[in-house]
Amino acid sequence: MYRIDHWIEGHTVASTSGRSGKVYNPATGQVQGEVGFADVSEVDKAIAVAKAALPAWRSTNLSRRAEIMFHMRELVAANRKEIADLLTKEHGKVTSDALGEVARGLENIEFACGIPNLMKGGYSEQASAGVDVYNIRQPLGVVAGITPFNFPAMVPMWMFANALACGNTFVLKPSEKDPSASMFIAELLKKAGLPDGVFNVVHGDKVAVDRLLEHPDIAAVSFVGSTPIARYIYETGTKNGKRVQALGGAKNHMLVLPDADLDMAADALVGAAYGSAGERCMAISVVLAVETIADELVGKVKDRIPNVVVGPGSDPGSEMGPLISGEHRDKVAGYVEGAAGEGATVVVDGREGAPGDGFFLKPSLIDNARPGMRCYDEEIFGPVLTVVRVKSYEEGLELINDNQFGNGTAIFTRDGGVARQFQFDVNVGMVGINVPIPVPVSYYSFGGWKASLFGDLHMYGPDGIQFYTRSKVVTSRWPDPRTSKVDLGFPQNR
Ligand code: NAD
Repeated sequence: MYRIDHWIEGHTVASTSGRSGKVYNPATGQVQGEVGFADVSEVDKAIAVAKAALPAWRSTNLSRRAEIMFHMRELVAANRKEIADLLTKEHGKVTSDALGEVARGLENIEFACGIPNLMKGGYSEQASAGVDVYNIRQPLGVVAGITPFNFPAMVPMWMFANALACGNTFVLKPSEKDPSASMFIAELLKKAGLPDGVFNVVHGDKVAVDRLLEHPDIAAVSFVGSTPIARYIYETGTKNGKRVQALGGAKNHMLVLPDADLDMAADALVGAAYGSAGERCMAISVVLAVETIADELVGKVKDRIPNVVVGPGSDPGSEMGPLISGEHRDKVAGYVEGAAGEGATVVVDGREGAPGDGFFLKPSLIDNARPGMRCYDEEIFGPVLTVVRVKSYEEGLELINDNQFGNGTAIFTRDGGVARQFQFDVNVGMVGINVPIPVPVSYYSFGGWKASLFGDLHMYGPDGIQFYTRSKVVTSRWPDPRTSKVDLGFPQNR
């Protein structure tokens, strides 16, 4: 048994609230640790420390801020296996997947290394006689990040890399289910040269989140998690005058057209549906199969499922680990159980033969699903792929556009013209063309549409820089005192 506490002002601070949560090893189902839950005074303390660190940090020159990000880049790269092991230990994902998470997070630190360029403003000389106009981007102040269980390292990196590089100070409230990675990251930031107090971590639940949402010294909140909580975060945060970006859940559809390479599509579907046990917001959870190829495609996916090796993430042979908790495993299993009663066909039942005592399920495949069935309408967030048979491209497109979520989608086809039309027509934030999981590289931005994102700016990349800064426009003139006179007219340029 180990204990996780807060990280405030550059060191571990024991929680005094008397409240805590259990940290499980999902591969065994056993409790392995305990995490202290912050009360209001502990959150206030972290915010006060971040506020006190702000003036010096935002005055730190851009080269130094970039240098710290470069150091952090090296430290994360050198410790990628240690971070991955923590992810496997508390989240359960297999080592290869955990290393992939670290690599995709690292991209965001690399992007933030370019902060001197990214913070550049514009300059207009001689906007009027002797008048120059320019804009500068300044940090917001103390900003908060609230993150989900499924990417305990990458999603914090989506946020803090740009936020810190822009000159903000940060309070992170990671998921209470797998809190250790955030502590390791905090230590690395300190080693990278980040001054104490600039990055802080408070652990906890709704009590900590609500305090961050209402505290007057929090300028902005970045959130990633489920849609009901994302909506709540957005509404509460903005009501309290904060800038908020809140990313929510997903139901990502892949449309497979008759001209697609069906083996390639089946390979992609198995990876995108069952990788990380389906606990990815960009996982494919629905395949829209055009009727003429549906039987063949379903057969190819079914044939591949027995080859997916399910087991503990620490076992090098495992390709898919357990789910995050027993409660979540049972919820996911409930969708499979209910599917037949709703009129769908359970082709592969992943409840059968799951290994060991951990929170395991094997991959499930549900065919003949339709809107109105729970297995289609709701986010399952587990290793369950649902097939909806459609007559045509148009019917498939309509289903995607009618869905409440709009995080990611993919089309598999050999027809470039249809793919381009799909990109034009589809109401989804991130689109893959023969790419099943189109998570944008760090120099673009990540974000869905509809109930998958509340707020105006997407996460990381150029939107991240905009989110963590505000623009100030300066109009300046250095007149010759000899030309000075009183003028009550409104300033004009012509
Ligand atoms: P969650 O919404 O349960 O929790 C996210 C965060 O909110 C955690 O830090 C948690 O402690 C906090 N929280 C939970 N309940 C709260 C409440 N009532 N009030 C205030 N705060 C609360 O999400 P999760 O289960 O950790 O993560 C899975 C979800 O995240 C899925 O829906 C998935 O699609 C989504 N997700 C979305 C993206 C994206 O980019 N859109 C990325 C990853 C995960």
